[in-house]
Amino acid sequence: MGKIISFSNQKGGVGKTTSAINLATYVAKAGKKVLLVDFDPQGNATSGFGVEKNQLVKNCYDVLMGECSPLEVIVPTMVENLDILPCNMDLAAAEVDLVSMLARESSLKRAIDPIKGNYDFIFVDCPPSLGLLTLNALVASDSVIIPIQSEFFALEGLSQLVNTIKIVKQRLNPALTINGVILTMYDNRTTMSKQVTAEIYKYFGDKVYTVPVPRNIKLVESPSFGVPVVLHAPKSTGAASYEALAKQFLQRENAL
Ligand code: ADP
Ligand code: MG
Repeated sequence: MGKIISFSNQKGGVGKTTSAINLATYVAKAGKKVLLVDFDPQGNATSGFGVEKNQLVKNCYDVLMGECSPLEVIVPTMVENLDILPCNMDLAAAEVDLVSMLARESSLKRAIDPIKGNYDFIFVDCPPSLGLLTLNALVASDSVIIPIQSEFFALEGLSQLVNTIKIVKQRLNPALTINGVILTMYDNRTTMSKQVTAEIYKYFGDKVYTVPVPRNIKLVESPSFGVPVVLHAPKSTGAASYEALAKQFLQRENAL
């Protein structure tokens, strides 16, 4: 049965999508069957794989609302073993449309459960909020990966996220755990980065992945070519970090 892992942090621009795209890619390259669910209405993961988000006949919104099967929306990517469930701005309406639905927190879980067996891992790229979409992702998930940008305000808001995870675990999804924390846009030359990292370690302990992802322009460029970094700049430091992270991830999941 596939394990569902949400990439979540209510802060925008911390590296959720970059981490989801590139970890999914390297885990797929390691021979695992992976599905990436684009669960942010901005559709950055979708366009990051060169899928035209404005030409989708159906997208993750329709799946979430129970209007079609995920099988009608999932498309393969250029990476072997990696599929994507794309979305676009339509998904933004779900925050409102779900409110009146029965068991509105578990709509994603209901939609995805039937195809769990088709994959080893299902990664969910969450939007930058703690609204109904993120709640649906957490209810559907086995665990959460929290990307954190190593900068001054990094820890602000994190207790709110951790608390939300705790509440979901208590009330809706007892099996939910934190898989780990990824340090993104890390700059080891600054005292600031070092101090913030020390704080993050104090808070999350051995949940923190020991491979930080440095600032790397290749990670910024590759989505504009519609490919993960390994197909744009396989020798870059960004690519090397996500490759190493994928290895640590698989070790943590006892999947090596
Ligand atoms: P989120 O999904 O949390 O909003 P993104 O993954 O979209 O964050 O990243 C936000 C911005 O930062 C994007 O422009 C992305 O290209 C850039 N970025 C992400 N990771 C790195 C990195 N390691 N080095 C440099 N830029 C990065
Ligand atoms: Mg994003």
